[in-house]
Amino acid sequence: MSQMSPPIVRTVAELRARVMAWRAAGELVGLAPTMGALHEGHLSLIRLAKTHAHRAVASLFVNPTQFGPNEDFEAYPRSEARDAELLASVGCDLLYAPSVSEMYPQGFATTVSVRGVSEPLDGAARPGHFAGVATVVTKLLLRCGPDLAVFGEKDYQQLQVIRRLVRDLDIPVEILGAPTARAEDGLALSSRNAYLTADERSAAPELHRALAAAVEQLHAGRSAAAVEADAMDRLKAAGFSRVDYVEVRAVDDLARLGPGPVPGPARILGAAVLGKARLIDNLAV
Ligand code: AMP
Repeated sequence: MSQMSPPIVRTVAELRARVMAWRAAGELVGLAPTMGALHEGHLSLIRLAKTHAHRAVASLFVNPTQFGPNEDFEAYPRSEARDAELLASVGCDLLYAPSVSEMYPQGFATTVSVRGVSEPLDGAARPGHFAGVATVVTKLLLRCGPDLAVFGEKDYQQLQVIRRLVRDLDIPVEILGAPTARAEDGLALSSRNAYLTADERSAAPELHRALAAAVEQLHAGRSAAAVEADAMDRLKAAGFSRVDYVEVRAVDDLARLGPGPVPGPARILGAAVLGKARLIDNLAV
């Protein structure tokens, strides 16, 4: 077996055979779903999986149903050979990389949609996105049957949508959230950062800085509405062409908080467009 790549399987039958053999031998299995173009944030998910399970499986699938008609499905970066090498370097045991027709065979007709938590924020800005995510994650969990699955806090709303659907559908898996991996200047690592020009890359950390400043102001007792408005102004001044939202929300169901001072634990989430990239980030309050 090559050291340069974990074994790659492309069908649900091969995936299940591998995972069932491990579980029959008493080994715990962790899954980390990805869309590839891997970076340190993705690798941190595999490392986290390996601290909680004997085996780590990564999936690589650019899921067409979670992209809107005017979004970047075609342009999304793809680099499977390089991704496989990176996965080997962190001890990933198996890569599941199905085709679109393997995931959605002729006649596929089912959608998983999660009410409530998937409706505001990115759910409002990207209609249909979370139904696409919820459907593919449900399929990946049922196909792989892992003991645990790891998702990044970088996509905080997605993490809460997945926690909700796993509870609602009684899927026997433990969901782990991994902290956001950042560049030294604070920018959350993302496959979409590849779209940024050099000038845009210099402006991009302003999203993290604006959220961090907002957290400080909230801790000082300023109202959520004032803090949100300041952060949005700051992003526009830094050259972001569109700010979809900066909002303080409840930690689990992402219910609206405010407009006044925030009484307890919360999450502040932001999304804004810089050049060709739509960047998202969030921090604990
Ligand atoms: P993606 O390939 O962008 O769909 O992301 C796959 C998984 O990696 C998701 O669970 C993301 O939340 C997670 N992820 C992406 N970027 C980061 C990051 N900077 N830090 C931690 N996790 C991340």
